[in-house]
Amino acid sequence: MRVLEIDNLHVSFKTRGGEIHAVRGVDLHVEDGETLAIVGESGCGKSVTAQSIMGMIPKPHGRIKGGSIKFRDHEMTTLSSKKLREIRGTEIGMIFQDPMTSLNPTMKIGHQIDEIFIKKLKLSRDEAKKKTIKLLQEVGIADPTTRYSDYSHQFSGGMRQRVVIAIALAANPSLLIADEPTTALDVTIQAQILELLKRIQLERQTSIVLITHDLGVVAELADRVSVMYAGIVVESGTVHDLFESPKHPYTWGLLKSVPNIHSQEKERLMAIEGTPPDLFDPPMGCPFAQRCPYAMEVCIEYLPEKEFFSESHSARCWLQDKRAKGYSEIAAGGERHG
Ligand code: SF4
Repeated sequence: MRVLEIDNLHVSFKTRGGEIHAVRGVDLHVEDGETLAIVGESGCGKSVTAQSIMGMIPKPHGRIKGGSIKFRDHEMTTLSSKKLREIRGTEIGMIFQDPMTSLNPTMKIGHQIDEIFIKKLKLSRDEAKKKTIKLLQEVGIADPTTRYSDYSHQFSGGMRQRVVIAIALAANPSLLIADEPTTALDVTIQAQILELLKRIQLERQTSIVLITHDLGVVAELADRVSVMYAGIVVESGTVHDLFESPKHPYTWGLLKSVPNIHSQEKERLMAIEGTPPDLFDPPMGCPFAQRCPYAMEVCIEYLPEKEFFSESHSARCWLQDKRAKGYSEIAAGGERHG
């Protein structure tokens, strides 16, 4: 069953310098028990998309200007703030990059989790404490009965992120939104947190929307991927589609900037040259045109339509238009051999 469906989402922010068109017609969906990764550079609109799902676009400057976000039976774009607050923390759990900002430094860790059981699930204090200790154990906190009474500053970064995951899971949500959940952690701890998220998903069948700039994290955790660039989803597919048969030059660039640990030869990592377009005044055509080595005249003027290669795999690129066939084969060949 489909947990989340976003259709033609537009989000913008009013600033002194004008209006930033941060999300420009995003479509995506998440099925029960699957992980969708949203990937892209900072400023591509991935975190704004996540905030929109949670009803956390800061008002009055931010505004959902169009489109629909359906979570289960709720149309999130039209719900009251009260209803959105109820859904957050019960039906949708959230994990952010910096666990320190998600935790209350003046409150014992155990009590922060108890609150959810007491306020949202109406359990007694004793029942809540039992559940909290069990949950701390589930997320890998050793000696949870003692650690229940500790404060966040007494935990390491990795352990704090485990506590944040416990809080996100307390009400047994059907959707977890994880925004760069491992970015602030060192590499070995990152691997442990990814393992934990994987195990949780397997055991609880929770759907996950994973926001990341790291394709290594995507390969580790995701089932499907949406690649975002300048507020638009430029390519979508299964992890296999994206890693084995990418169709968009921006995805080619992202893949070239990731080290291949299986390669015997020393590889040179490629950075994608240039900067994303100004979203105060987004380009009419393909937003990647200024950085794309294969840009054609049509790319500057017209935004390409979504082209489907299979039920799961699509991209927005003029190279994939039938009329550009010869050129697209040269480009794809160049990427394979380049
Ligand atoms: Fe490059 Fe044109 Fe494709 Fe955009 S549409 S990625 S500019 S080839």
